Amino acid sequence: MDRPEPGSVEDLATLAKLDDNILLDELRVRYNKNLIYTYVGDILIAVNPFRDLDIYGTEESQKYYLEKKSSNPPHIFAISDAAYQCITGYGGRTPTNQCILISGESGAGKTESTKLIIKQLIELCRSNTQLEQQILQVNPLLEAFGNAQTSMNNNSSRFGKYIQLAFRNGHVIGAKISEYLLERSRLVRQNPGEENFHIFYYMFAGLTTEYQQRFHLQKPENYRYLSNGASCLKNEKKSLKGNYEDLRNSLDLVGFTDEEQENMFNMIAAVLNLGNVQFGMDDDEASFVEDDNSFIKVASALLGIPTEEVAGTLTSIVTYTRGEEVKRNYTQQQAQDARDAIAKAIYGRMFGWIVNKINQLLAPPEYTEQGDRREIGILDIFGFEHFEKNSFEQACINLANEQLQFFFNQHVFRLEQEEYTKEGIDWKEIKFVDNQPLLDLFLAKPIGILSLLDEESQFPKATDATFVDKLNKHFGKNSYYGKSQQTKSSKFTISHYAGKVTYDASEWLEKNRDSLPAGLQEMLQGSTNDLAKLIFRAQITRTGTLALQSRKSRHTRKSKRPSVDGGRKRKQTVGGQFKNSLQILMERMTSATPIFVRCLKPNHVKSPGKFDSDYIKQQLLYTGMLETTKIRREGFAVRPTFPEFVDKYKIIVCKASLPGTKENCLTILKASKITGWQLGKTKVFLKYYHIEQLADIFKLM
Ligand code: ATP
Ligand code: MG
Repeated sequence: MDRPEPGSVEDLATLAKLDDNILLDELRVRYNKNLIYTYVGDILIAVNPFRDLDIYGTEESQKYYLEKKSSNPPHIFAISDAAYQCITGYGGRTPTNQCILISGESGAGKTESTKLIIKQLIELCRSNTQLEQQILQVNPLLEAFGNAQTSMNNNSSRFGKYIQLAFRNGHVIGAKISEYLLERSRLVRQNPGEENFHIFYYMFAGLTTEYQQRFHLQKPENYRYLSNGASCLKNEKKSLKGNYEDLRNSLDLVGFTDEEQENMFNMIAAVLNLGNVQFGMDDDEASFVEDDNSFIKVASALLGIPTEEVAGTLTSIVTYTRGEEVKRNYTQQQAQDARDAIAKAIYGRMFGWIVNKINQLLAPPEYTEQGDRREIGILDIFGFEHFEKNSFEQACINLANEQLQFFFNQHVFRLEQEEYTKEGIDWKEIKFVDNQPLLDLFLAKPIGILSLLDEESQFPKATDATFVDKLNKHFGKNSYYGKSQQTKSSKFTISHYAGKVTYDASEWLEKNRDSLPAGLQEMLQGSTNDLAKLIFRAQITRTGTLALQSRKSRHTRKSKRPSVDGGRKRKQTVGGQFKNSLQILMERMTSATPIFVRCLKPNHVKSPGKFDSDYIKQQLLYTGMLETTKIRREGFAVRPTFPEFVDKYKIIVCKASLPGTKENCLTILKASKITGWQLGKTKVFLKYYHIEQLADIFKLM
């Protein structure tokens, strides 16, 4: 059979001849014609155009309104339309919850796709409510605090998010955001050429002189936490000022009060000033604050706490031995670490508070009622990361990507093919790369990387080296694990589905424990800043509930019941928390119908019109796109049981009632004249395009 004109095929699963190069060729030709979207069956591929295309306006939006997929070119709006039709039960479908999973490397276009999907979903509701306007502002708001310019992407999401939109009768009735692992380390250190979170630059560009004075802000380049990125304030001040104004607008619209907004900026200014506090060390190696420029005074004033108290928390730790208070001074290095840890804790907690606040504001009373409520979830996580130095954060991010790839495989390959075998239809197996061993390597109990890390995190004497020793001992023979060639190295290598990554285990124990800096919680409880007080009042315990905790109660309980872990639950580790939230996410996704969007990045230089074939091919390979295309071409995406099928399509043979038997299915299928289906033991196996064909017959009757 002749191959159709390259680039003319909108659904690659319809290609008769298929290999990696043909896939690549089709995408390249289409990309060069600005056709960035292509289907693989029900999956959408999006190649980042790195330029504004005029394809997201009102006209387009109206085109993708309750339409058949095949009646319009591939488009991200069609994904919204498909999800919307499913939750509303349009065209006689049974309404089901949907989750849209967007994957791709950093800078591939996941967040832009997320925003376009939400925008179109809101258009589809056609209701124009205040709630909808609020929901549209959520992304820009979160981006200000959680995104930053990196070497990969000028607006890189430094946290993962799952947005759930709840609908009733086709209208949005609420939204909920779950946030995963904000990269807090960015606050105190950025790699060369990278920036801190956007909010800092917005603030300098946009705050009025009055507020700059009230927050005692100096020139941005004076601040250590902005050491790399202050140059953007020289070159792009005007657009940053616009960003600041947009942010204030978003905050207003979503419902943050003036006082809350002021408190937020106040805290950010406090964090910046804190970062500039320097320390000296006396002859006994005890640190003291050495602060000619009064940064500590400004920080304390902004935090609403006496300066001596802040200085005390920065330079010493108070412990209790047999009811006695013992103060120990930090060394200079320890004081610097405490300072940065405090700044990160404040910023991280504030981000968590923002997300919670949004959730409160966007969850109307009806949200808790069940009834005919349906949901569309949209997952926009951080893409696979592989830097020169990879730490605990990269391991978590890459684990999340493994989990997502596993879910994709599970859904697209395994479950489907298992069913073919079980139902005894004629089928030639399509192989895929199963990454289950990698998930086991990370998640197995008690011998998985995260469990071993938790175990080590509990031993006060354990070090990063003892942790790596343990890994080497347990996984030395695991083919996905690579021991470092050097002895006493803190490094190890993991062969991820998307490539090999060498991790450095330095600081993993500390990052995993994530203990709040000593004395911080108590100190901020006495703050005159409402927000500071609020975000440090609650502590998350292993049970996931919020519990109030103060040093006093900890101390008294400990002295009463010294043998049982102080009588309180141990704080959950970061790894443990992440594992839990991944599990919750997987459960949510499993209980809904998934829709996959695969974002591809055409080049490393963020530039329009450049299609780097090798780079795209690499992405197609590790995501298993060729196999996916094959299974979408040869597989049966729709599999109703005999009674379900007969019940739905009996009208084709003009019957009001008909028993749900195999024979009756056959009669209907023959009458419909569609081809390529199969009958199993209990189910009808249909191609995804059969549904539209059957619906057409349905309409004609
Ligand atoms: P990260 O994992 O770093 O968060 P990402 O996959 O979320 O990356 P985006 O921030 O969505 O990537 O996209 C990066 C940039 O690419 C955008 O800031 C924008 O400039 C451009 N871009 C992405 N998608 C589109 C699109 N559909 N049209 C125009 N430009 C786009
Ligand atoms: Mg993003």
